[in-house]
Amino acid sequence: MTSPASRFDILFEPVQIGPVRTKNRFYQVPHCNGMGHGKPQSLAAMRGVKAEGGWGVVCTEEVEISHFSETSPYQEGRLWDERDIPALRLMTEACHAHGALAGVELFFNGYATTNRYSREIPMAPSHIPVQASDPVQARAMDKTDIRNVRRWHRNAALRARDAGFDLVYVYAGHDLGMPMHFISRRTNRRTDEYGGSLENRVRFLRELIEDTKDAVGDRCGVVVRLAVDQLLGPLGITSENEGRDAIALLAELPDLWDVNIADWSNDSQTARFSQEGYQEQYIAHVKQLTTKPVVGVGRYTSPDAMVSAIQRGVMDLIGAARPSIADPFLPNKVQQGRADEIRECIGCNICVTGDNLCVPIRCTQNPTMGEEWRRGWHPERIAPAQSKDTVLVVGAGPAGLELTRALGQRGYEVALADAGKRVGGRLLNDASLPGFSTWMRVADWRLQRIQSMPNVNLYLDSRLGADEVLGFGFNRVFVATGATWRRDGLGRQHRAPLLDTSNATLAAKVFTPDDVFAGTPIPSPVLIYDDDHYYMGGALAEALRRKGLEVLLVTPATKVSEFTDMTMEQHRIQSGLHKLGVQVFTNTEIAAVHSVGSGLIVGLKNLYSDKVAPQQCQSVLMVTMRDPSDALFMALQEREAEWVGAGIRSVQVLGDAYGPGTVAAAVYAGHRAARELDAPELPLDQVPFKRELIAIEPASAD
Ligand code: ADP
Ligand code: SF4
Repeated sequence: MTSPASRFDILFEPVQIGPVRTKNRFYQVPHCNGMGHGKPQSLAAMRGVKAEGGWGVVCTEEVEISHFSETSPYQEGRLWDERDIPALRLMTEACHAHGALAGVELFFNGYATTNRYSREIPMAPSHIPVQASDPVQARAMDKTDIRNVRRWHRNAALRARDAGFDLVYVYAGHDLGMPMHFISRRTNRRTDEYGGSLENRVRFLRELIEDTKDAVGDRCGVVVRLAVDQLLGPLGITSENEGRDAIALLAELPDLWDVNIADWSNDSQTARFSQEGYQEQYIAHVKQLTTKPVVGVGRYTSPDAMVSAIQRGVMDLIGAARPSIADPFLPNKVQQGRADEIRECIGCNICVTGDNLCVPIRCTQNPTMGEEWRRGWHPERIAPAQSKDTVLVVGAGPAGLELTRALGQRGYEVALADAGKRVGGRLLNDASLPGFSTWMRVADWRLQRIQSMPNVNLYLDSRLGADEVLGFGFNRVFVATGATWRRDGLGRQHRAPLLDTSNATLAAKVFTPDDVFAGTPIPSPVLIYDDDHYYMGGALAEALRRKGLEVLLVTPATKVSEFTDMTMEQHRIQSGLHKLGVQVFTNTEIAAVHSVGSGLIVGLKNLYSDKVAPQQCQSVLMVTMRDPSDALFMALQEREAEWVGAGIRSVQVLGDAYGPGTVAAAVYAGHRAARELDAPELPLDQVPFKRELIAIEPASAD
């Protein structure tokens, strides 16, 4: 019988990449993080933690080589000139301190950048509007422009080498890197030696690779990131035609091929729409075209799947962005025979929202992500308990579970009680939606950790009231009792209730997501009113339609599940509902709901025309907002005078019971409460984290 460690030995073999050698096959591919050039210390600490966790290679996000192609307001890396070197050196030093190679993804993104900050006119192979909807067009490059971009790239590669990077990228991925704009017929209408045949269209990429090898190839491995399929069928590059042929033409030029699919929303699909290893079908052929090593991605969290991908010859290095975000210590856990402790990515793309909203990265599974520098949080280490206080946590949803787990890790005696028969809270509901099963990992991982802790006791089927809590004698009480959906339509669009729910005839035909999860039959046709705009409305429409109900989805937003633009799922959600036959009304609010006979007549008001049209249905499902379930907390607060006698030193409410939000926010709240249980209380006005302050240039003499 092979031991777990030896089964995974192949993952710990070194790989030669040009002049440098990795210590293993774990490769953190470039990923955005909302920190970039604006928050270099945060960035270095976050990357350093990955290196500490065992990743053999740790890469930057996209790094700008020139102000002629910059991504403002998005916070990416920056190497415009020498002054940018020290910030990135922080990262390379943090990686080297733990034996990881540091990689830099240099980019010039042509018409995929708008240059909102520098105000330079973007450049492209041919005249074309930029990808964003800004009224900006990229201009066709002449030969001087091409020479300039090559020079900027070369100089940036030299600066990257001086900053300490071991791997330097030429970026042609995601429909972003300009070499891809040259390769694709859709965006290259040139008639000179850079247009026409594929040989001509890969010329720019070839030149950049040659320039980079010439500049830094003696010290650094040169990596090409190329999207081999745009998932556009014959309209675009596919892995069966020009994606494959482009690699064949340049096969031995780079030291490493980093291959994936475009655009970013295809590359980083959520678990709702893709399985682990979903890119293999597009990239599996690459290793047959080159003798150089290949790295690929596919949200691999299982070491067995990783071993299999290597043994089947799909790739040499396991590329990971999200699995490394959810668990920066994944490689070390595999190596130490603790693979069962891996905190697996759930594929929700909350991490992507950070970059899209220009704020530091956050993660549903890993509450320390993005907090390494500013709060000093480490994903594996936490301060030991400072007192012998006993703790009661009420509610085993994501907030209560993470709080219990982290307090248990600290060594506190913790009792976790939940009214339900299973832990998970809202996750039990969410994970039952189509495509959401991975979300249960948030509860499962925490339950597994808690069950290994002798100082934590779990009490299920235990609904607690204030009398019980006051009677138990715990020193610290945390209330994480979640939230419930409102029935009356109050929300973003309607700041006052839309329905009189005291009208029993009407209320009997109006449902909430909680009713659906409780198994209440929903009469068809059902009109779902989504004023929440994240996943719930769209996912329930899918679930009910799949059960055979006729479904109408009404939303005041311009799109279905509008916030999922930030998680790069929106298009898939709306087109999926369309294919299922869900009738969608956007820019529409409910003006009135009347009970008529056995059904309802709903007045649907178009927000632009103000016209109201009647719509018949049998039921309305309100997805508007949630109310905190804080009755227990309120009852305890009212009885504050009894706390001392009951041995209680503090009562705190957290998670959805405090402010309903995402699962990520609830996990974060639980983690924070565990860290702060015995921390010195800060004045409320004091910022509780470090900030990266802007250096003010000294005034010039003239
Ligand atoms: P959060 O997202 O903040 O963690 P959830 O809604 O996911 O919140 O979880 C709240 C949990 O609290 C649920 O599992 C629910 O059963 C439990 N709960 C609510 N009220 C009580 C109570 N009075 N006693 C015990 N458990 C409770
Ligand atoms: Fe995975 Fe979600 Fe964390 Fe991103 S936020 S790494 S998708 S668990």
